[in-house]
Amino acid sequence: MSIKAVKFGGSSLADAGQIKKAAEIIRSDRTRRYVVPSAPGKRYDGDTKVTDMLYACYELAARGEDVSAALEGIKARYDEIIKGLGISFSLDDAFEKIRTGMIGMAGRDYAVSRGEYLNGLILAEYLGFRFIDAADTVFFNEDGSFNPEKTNEALKKSLAACDYAVIPGFYGAMPNGTIRTFSRGGSDITGALVARAAGAAVYENWTDVSGLCMADPRIIDNPKYIKTVTYRELRELSYMGATVLHEDSIFPVKLAGIPINIRNTNDPAAPGTFIVPYADDGPDGDVITGIAGKKGFAVLTLEKDMMNAETGFVKRVLEVMESFGISFEHLPSGIDTLSVVLNNSQIESRKDEVFAALQAKVNPDSIEYQSDLSLIAVVGRRMIKTKGTAARVFNAVAQADVNIRMIDQGSSELNIIIGVNDCDFEKAMKAIYREFVK
Ligand code: ASP
Repeated sequence: MSIKAVKFGGSSLADAGQIKKAAEIIRSDRTRRYVVPSAPGKRYDGDTKVTDMLYACYELAARGEDVSAALEGIKARYDEIIKGLGISFSLDDAFEKIRTGMIGMAGRDYAVSRGEYLNGLILAEYLGFRFIDAADTVFFNEDGSFNPEKTNEALKKSLAACDYAVIPGFYGAMPNGTIRTFSRGGSDITGALVARAAGAAVYENWTDVSGLCMADPRIIDNPKYIKTVTYRELRELSYMGATVLHEDSIFPVKLAGIPINIRNTNDPAAPGTFIVPYADDGPDGDVITGIAGKKGFAVLTLEKDMMNAETGFVKRVLEVMESFGISFEHLPSGIDTLSVVLNNSQIESRKDEVFAALQAKVNPDSIEYQSDLSLIAVVGRRMIKTKGTAARVFNAVAQADVNIRMIDQGSSELNIIIGVNDCDFEKAMKAIYREFVK
C-alpha cells in the first residue's frame, strides 16, 4: 500500500471544528498514515497563535515574572479543543511539566515547541494513532545545524514500527537532549522529513488555501491556482516573493523525488497544487506557470569608454561589492555599460562609500544610481517550447503604458525577468496576468 505523509498547518488545527475536518480527511484515506501537526493557529482575524502565546509566556518567565495567567490562557485553548472533540484527556500533568520547564529555563525553544507537542498528543488520542515524539526522532548537531541523516535513520526506524502515527512538527533535539526548533513555519520541514523517511508516494501539505496562486492575490483578484509546478519553478517564484511553504521543506522531498501536494482543509475536494521534480506536460495548459515580483531593488550603472576591451572589469566591480558584503541579483551589460541590480536595503545607507570604492578600483566615466526598481519574474517551464512569449510580455507591459527598465532572461528559459519603476509594479503585474491567463 502506498503511503501518504500529511502535514496540517495551524489554521487547519486551530480549534475542535478544524481538527474534526482534518481527522475526517485523514480517516477518509487509509494511506494517510503519518500525520504532522502544527500548533493551533488563529481561529479568526486578530486571534493569537498558540506558538506566539508561548513565546510571550517564555518572555515573562525569562524576566522572572509570574507565568500562571499566561499558561492558563494557553491551557484553556487546549481544554476547549479536548472538550469540543469529546475525548477524555487531561493535560494537567503536561502543563505542570511545561511550567517547571519555563521557570527552570529549559530554553525558549523548549517552551515554544510545546504548541506542536500538545497538539500532537491530542490528535494522536483522537485518531487512535501512535504518538512519536519529534525529540526522539529529529536531530540537530552541536552547532545547532540540522542533522538530516541521523534524523532519517531514526524516523525510518520509528515509522517502520507502526502503521499509523502522529509526529509533532517544528522541533527536534540537540545532542544533549535539549529541545531545538526550526525557524518559524518549520512544521513544513518536519512533514517533508517524515515523507522522506516513510518513502511516501506524496507529501500532502494541508493549509487554508487551495494551492499556490499564479499571481499574488493582493494584486490580482481571484488568481487561478497553479495545478503543477516543478521544484525549479517554485524556487524562482518563491525567490521573487511567492510564499507557500517553508523554503527548507523542499530539500528532503526533492532529494527523494516525492511530490508535494498543497491542499485546502476547508475545501478537500479541490485538487490543490502539485509540486513535482519534473512535469510531463501535455499539449495544452498555460504557457506560464506563475508571475511573482518584488519592490525594493536598485540599479547601479557604470559607464566607461572602451569597457568591452578592458579585461577583468566585471571582476573588479564584483570584488568591490563583495568587500561590502553586497550580493547582486542581475548583471545586465552593454558594450560600455555595466548595471548591477541589487537589493536596495543592502546599499542605500552606504552608497557613497560604495561609489568611492568603485571609483578607486575601476575608474568609470560615470556612476548612476536609481533606487525605485521593482522586479517581476514571469516563470514557466513551457516557455522554452513556445515562441513569442517574451514578445507577449513586453507588448502587454507596453500596452499598459509601463516602461521596462531592465530585461533578463536566464539561458534556462525558465523565466523572463523585467524591471519596472516601483510606481508601475502593480500595473505591470496586472497587464502580464491578463495577457497570459485571462
Ligand atoms: N507553530 C510554528 C509557527 O507558528 C511552526 C509551524 O506552524 O510550522 O511558526
